[in-house]
Formats: sequence, structure tokens, C-alpha cells
Amino acid sequence: MDAIVDSKAALGEQARKFVSETRKMLVDGKWVAAASGKTFSTLDPATGAPITEVCEGDKEDISQAVLAARRAFEDGPWPNMTPSEREHLMHRLADLIEANADELAELEALDNGKNKAIARMVDINLAIETFRYMAGWPSKISGDVLPLSTPRAPDQQFFGYTLREPVGVIGQIIPWNFPLLMCAWKLAPALACGNTIVLKPAEETPLTALRLGELICEAGFPDGVVNIVPGYGHTAGAALTAHPEVDKIAFTGSTEVGKIIAREAADSMKKVSMELGGKSPAIILPDADLDIAIPGAVSAIMFNQGQVCCAGSRLYVPDNLYDAVIEGLAENVSALKIGSGLDPENMVNPLVSETQFQRVMGYIDIGREEGASVITGGKRRGDSGYFVEPTILADTNQDMKVVQEEIFGPVLCVQRYSDVSEITRLANDTIYGLGASLWTRDVGNIMRFVPKIKAGTVWVNCHNILDVAMPFGGFKQSGYGRELGKDVLELYTQTKSVCIMA
Ligand code: NDP
Repeated sequence: MDAIVDSKAALGEQARKFVSETRKMLVDGKWVAAASGKTFSTLDPATGAPITEVCEGDKEDISQAVLAARRAFEDGPWPNMTPSEREHLMHRLADLIEANADELAELEALDNGKNKAIARMVDINLAIETFRYMAGWPSKISGDVLPLSTPRAPDQQFFGYTLREPVGVIGQIIPWNFPLLMCAWKLAPALACGNTIVLKPAEETPLTALRLGELICEAGFPDGVVNIVPGYGHTAGAALTAHPEVDKIAFTGSTEVGKIIAREAADSMKKVSMELGGKSPAIILPDADLDIAIPGAVSAIMFNQGQVCCAGSRLYVPDNLYDAVIEGLAENVSALKIGSGLDPENMVNPLVSETQFQRVMGYIDIGREEGASVITGGKRRGDSGYFVEPTILADTNQDMKVVQEEIFGPVLCVQRYSDVSEITRLANDTIYGLGASLWTRDVGNIMRFVPKIKAGTVWVNCHNILDVAMPFGGFKQSGYGRELGKDVLELYTQTKSVCIMA
């Protein structure tokens, strides 16, 4: 692995300019400093060095942003815009993201640590697609005409219909693993449905959200429709959750914090949607094509350094294929080059932060203590930055912490099974239910196992494939509500029934 001295030197001119000054927060269409005057450093995961300073939002800044969003929702030009005007604005924003895609990919790679080329191809492209897909909805969201049978006098008539109205001011709290893409998943449907927003990016990765804020202004969204307040979860995030003028909280992050937010939001009966953690199984069935399944299983866990809520972190392998699969996994993993995400050759990049690094290394130690065999990796790489070698833990079992808890790093737990009838029990033996994959050539297996797996998404012969048309969300403690697709409209609209007597 090459030592990285100065990541900023690898940036293009635009990205370098963006990180050359303290970044402010977007409140009511203006870029402002924090009321407290405080800033925090956002760090480069490849070196641990500060990239730039970011204004640190807290209760007062959140309050200003929420009030701006309230004004924009009730009185500004936004509620009077036609659906097609909202669509045009969203398309304009998608075009601006596309025009600035390379800069955004660089900023994402710098702030999160991920591979720049993958950020461009996956994160930024999917963000563009999300705005374009959601831009199609405003002119198509409608209610129903209702066939009423209510008791009535002979000369009375009742006419009933429903309206699908926006929920109001939405507080959105997002994590650091796909910073810009999570902005798009949250902002695009909320805007399509006519809401206004206060968004808090993760403190580890605020840069692309703030650059997106500039593009939102450039696209011409009215002041206050989108407000972006970077800051810490326990201060800015908690203030957003508690604010009485916020109608709904949309959260993506850990199940632990999701529970805190859901409890807090219950006090004011805010609507809540939760996209939380996972411990998703990848199940190789005895008839699987190993040429597809083995690299597929590697990518299911190693993509984004395993910092993916639906990562395939538990791999189940039939007894008779176990040795071949372990050998194939080790071979595939050893081919992955480790290093800074700003060099697109490097497929394994640093974890996002020191905290995440310590957490993942801690789990690897726990796995060893629990009796797992470390087949590859298990160590830090380099002596600066947050690099963890891709790690395969074999001979794991359901009782181990490493099999039950979300590690959120490049750590795969492999387990053998002897009888396919055990598969559903093993797959479902977790508090989570976000994703699962089956690797099989037999359509009978697909028909048999898909209905039995308790997960929001089941992939067959693939894993981690996300599409804006395909709803995404969790069963069990992986959350509630579905993002993307048509289903997301449920999260950002509410139904009003209208009854007219004539
Ligand atoms: P968190 O769940 O803490 O962070 C997600 C977001 O919530 C961040 O914006 C965070 O703010 C904010 N937040 C934290 N505490 C509060 C609070 N009390 N009220 C309101 N908002 C809050 O995840 P972490 O970053 O701490 O990661 C820890 C673990 O969570 C990971 O190891 C992983 O297992 C899991 N995780 C799961 C994700 C998923 O997509 N399912 C995504 C990220 C993490 P702040 O800016 O301070 O971080």
C-alpha cells in the first residue's frame, strides 16, 4: 500500500477550491455560520488529517432552519407551485449534479474514503437517477373518488374524494456510508411530494451534502425549502427530533440511534420512518454456480468496505462445497488492492473514521476469542489512516457475537450447513431483516425460499443491487417504511378525506 501524504493534491481544481474554505450551513436560502460560532474538522480517512472546517449546527441553528422550512411550507412560493414546476426544478437539480459529478465524486472519496471511480459510477449516478425518477411523481400523485353509501335523506347527495397532501416540515438525519446518495434518497421524494426539509448530514461526511446545497440554490428552489445543518447527532440531530414544528423524521443509521429517535418523536407524535442496521445472510445453495457465487459473496461484503446496511455479512455454505468456497473467497479477496480511494485502482479503502476502525478491529478480536478461524486479513494495514484488511472469519456459528451483531466493516462470517431445510432458520435467526441473497440455479429453490426469508429485499444470484424503482427497507429491527419506488410516496404524503353534501 502506498503511503498517502496529501490527498488534496489529488483533487481537481473545483474540489480543491471547495475544501479551501470553512463551509457554512444552508438556512433559508443563505449560507450562514453557526449561532455559537463553533466549527468542527472533517477528516480524511486515508490519513486522519483535517480536510477543512465545517460550521457546527446546534439547537439554535436547527430552530432557525425549522422555522425557515415552516415559512417555506406555509407561505412561500413553494406551496403555490404547480406540480410541473416542481418537476422542472428537480430535473434542473439532477442536471446540475450530473454537470458537477466528477467534483462530487472527488469530494465523496476524500470525505468518506471510498473509491473515487465507484463513487462516480454508483453514488453520484444513483443520486442523479433518484432525482430524475422522483421528478416524475409530482404530476402523478393523486387521490381517489370514493363511492359513498352513507345513510342520507332522499334529497341529499354526498360526494367523497381523497387528497394526497404533503406531510409538512421533514427532519432528515442521514449516515456517512453513502453521503450524497442518502441525501438524494431522502430529499428527492420529500420534494416530489411538496414538503420542506431540514437535513442533518453525518458529522463525519458533510461535504457533498453542502455542495449539493449550493446546487439546490443554483437550480432555483425557493428559500427555506431545503435547509442543510451539519452538526453532531446528540446536539443538532436531537434538536431536530425534538422540535415541535417538525412533522416527520426520516432516519437512516444504526438501530440503536433509531430507537432513541423513535422514542423522542413519540412525545409529539411525529411521523417516523426508519432505515436501520442489518446482518444480511448470503446463502449458497448446493446447486449454486460457484463461479458466480464466490465473487458475488466477496462483493456482497467488501463493497464500500462493508459499510453497507444490507451487506452480505453472514455467508452460509453447504458442507460439501465448504472447502472450495473458502479457498475461492481467499483467492478473490487477496486480489483486492488496498489504498486511498483517490486512486481508482484501490478496491479496498479506509473505513470512515477512527471510531469505526476501532469498532471493526474490536469485532475481529471478538471473533478470534469466540473461536472463529481468520482465513484472510484480520489486521490493520499501514500505520496511518483507517485501513482494515478484508477479513474472512470461517467456522463461525449462530451463537457468536460476530454473527449476530452488525460489524459494518470488511468482515465476512462464513458458516457451514448440512441440510438445506436448515437454511430458513439460519437466515432468520437475527434481530435484523434488511436483505438476503440466495445463490442457486434452481427456480424451485427460488420459489421455495424467497417467501420464507424475513427481509425487505431478497436478491437471487446477486447482492446489494439497488434501483430507484425498487422499494428498500427493513423487516424486524431493520426499520419500518419503504424508501424508493412508488412506496416511498407513503412516507411523504398524508391522506385527507373530503366529503361534500349537495
Ligand atoms: P448513527 O446511527 O449514530 O448515525 C446516523 C446519524 O444519526 C448521524 O447523522 C448521527 O449524527 C445521527 N445521530 C446520532 N445520534 C443521534 C441522536 N441522539 N439523535 C438524532 N440523531 C443522531 O451511526 P454511527 O455513525 O454512530 O455508526 C455506528 C454504527 O451504526 C455503525 O457501526 C453501523 O453498525 C451502524 N450504521 C448503520 C447505517 C445504516 O445505513 N444502517 C449507517 C451508519 C451506521 P453524527 O453526525 O453525530 O454521526
